[in-house]
Amino acid sequence: MDGLLTTHLVRAMMLSLRLLASVGVCMIMAGQLAHAADHHRVLIIYSWHDQMPWQAGIRAGMQETLDQLPESERPEIYEERMDDGRISVSDEVLSLYLQKKYANVNLDLVIAEAQSAASFLLRHPDLFPQANRYSINVAKHGLMEQSHIVTISEDVTRELLTVTQLLPECERVVAVVDYSENGQRIKNGLLAAAPLLPRGVTLEVWDNFSFDELYMRASQLSRGSAILYFPTQHDRNGARKIPRDVVRQLSQTAPVPVFGNRDAFLGYGIVGGYSLSSRNEGGLIAQIAQGITPATDAASVDARLKGYMFDDQQLARWNIPNRLLPTPNTVINREDSIWTRYGWQIGLSLAAILLEALLIAALIRSLQQRKTALGQLAQERDILEQRVQERTHELEKLATTDELTKVANRRKFLDVALAELDRAKRYGRPLSLLMLDIDRFKAINDTHGHACGDQVIHMMAQTCVAELREIDCVGRIGGEEFAIVLPEVDLDAARLVAERIRGTVESLNLANAKAGSIRFTVSVGVSTLAGGADSIATVMERADACLYRAKERGRWRATITVAGQRQLG
Ligand code: GH3
Ligand code: MG
Ligand code: MG
Repeated sequence: MDGLLTTHLVRAMMLSLRLLASVGVCMIMAGQLAHAADHHRVLIIYSWHDQMPWQAGIRAGMQETLDQLPESERPEIYEERMDDGRISVSDEVLSLYLQKKYANVNLDLVIAEAQSAASFLLRHPDLFPQANRYSINVAKHGLMEQSHIVTISEDVTRELLTVTQLLPECERVVAVVDYSENGQRIKNGLLAAAPLLPRGVTLEVWDNFSFDELYMRASQLSRGSAILYFPTQHDRNGARKIPRDVVRQLSQTAPVPVFGNRDAFLGYGIVGGYSLSSRNEGGLIAQIAQGITPATDAASVDARLKGYMFDDQQLARWNIPNRLLPTPNTVINREDSIWTRYGWQIGLSLAAILLEALLIAALIRSLQQRKTALGQLAQERDILEQRVQERTHELEKLATTDELTKVANRRKFLDVALAELDRAKRYGRPLSLLMLDIDRFKAINDTHGHACGDQVIHMMAQTCVAELREIDCVGRIGGEEFAIVLPEVDLDAARLVAERIRGTVESLNLANAKAGSIRFTVSVGVSTLAGGADSIATVMERADACLYRAKERGRWRATITVAGQRQLG
């Protein structure tokens, strides 16, 4: 019976346990669901204040990691800064403040950055009871027991040996630590590592100084020395300084290179060294804030957060060649070559210059082509102008020349005669005019034909031209009638000219196939300019009248008139 009861009891217990387990699993799942729907709420308590380079590095590293996450997965971050080193607030005040401030924020996680924040959390285990805790902390006694802690151990040996590795000529390493408990722990570590230094190198630890003494002693260091600086917060007199300012002052006063173990000091005058990276620590904090559990063993932490870091300008300042740098390493402040810095600008400028040169070449080419084309055009224009001139001349000639005889036609003759008359009047010079008419020309036409008549007319014109001077002008003014103007010739001379022409014509003999030869005569009327009232018409009329009389009197003679008086020749 007992056995049966026991069996039932055991079964009932098993059932209830199963039930409980199912309920528990359901609750956990529900909790996770609620959790997933919500942002992860994380409070980060920093030990220092915002303007420290160390804090800036953490902020940058954190941001870099968080920015890679989609918005929905980003934790909701709250930040508090203890501002240790500048202000101290009592634990009670701070814990009360935080308690009140975050009373309505359902924090999932609280992360403490560095010793002050980590110690504070340790001292207040009941603060934010529902939240998980993480501490990122440089190794310090008393904190090691904390459950979630990323301990960053000091590797003073490596930090020390890096100095002598970079400075083979170094004879003395001066390590600067402060008088704090932490400083003393570093001092002990250094002293323990001292035997590992190369032969001939001595180690000196300065831990008992006022800041002024520190700078003074540093300024008196001799060549062959180097400083290895560890973060110091306060001096023997209790004066507090930000490590960044101490390191800056030290590197300015000391005539020897200063090494350090924090990336945050780079850029403030230190050469560098085996350093803890604030940026990497920021990345680690961001991951913890997301709920990712980091590896906390010393090797993983070191690999993640530490490395050899140097300032290129300081390496150059102290003539430390790159080949001496331990690897892998990070070098900041590298002086970029002009190509790295202005590469694309230079490239762009060169391209622009090339383009401009091409454009100019094209322009010059086109100008040359234009010039050649213009030259050809000018040449063609000249030729054209010449042709026009020639043509105009030809037309002029056609318009003023008698076609058959090639002497001036009536219009041209009148123009010339008028001009000569004007000139003679103006200068009071003599001028005479002859009118000539071939005798019985109609009969020549009738007997020998019109073509033969043309030949006679042509011959007559040629004879006149041959008998006259260059300045005299012969014009054909009718069928077989001609007129001649004789500038600078008075009546007597004109009569001689008339007689000469008449005589020559008389002696002409035109060879003709039918008739054998043809002879002809001409009658001439001569007149001269008699006064200012004379016009070309009156002079011509008088000559014409004379010619008429010659015809009357039987032709083949020259008849002369002087100012209306008749004279027979
Ligand atoms: P006169 O001695 O009185 O001058 O007698 P003529 O026959 O010479 O005079 P007329 O004026 O009567 O005749 C002129 C002739 O000239 C008339 C005309 O047919 C002829 N004639 C006019 N022009 C030309 C021409 O260009 N060629 C030829 N062959 N004959 C022409
Ligand atoms: Mg006639
Ligand atoms: Mg006639």
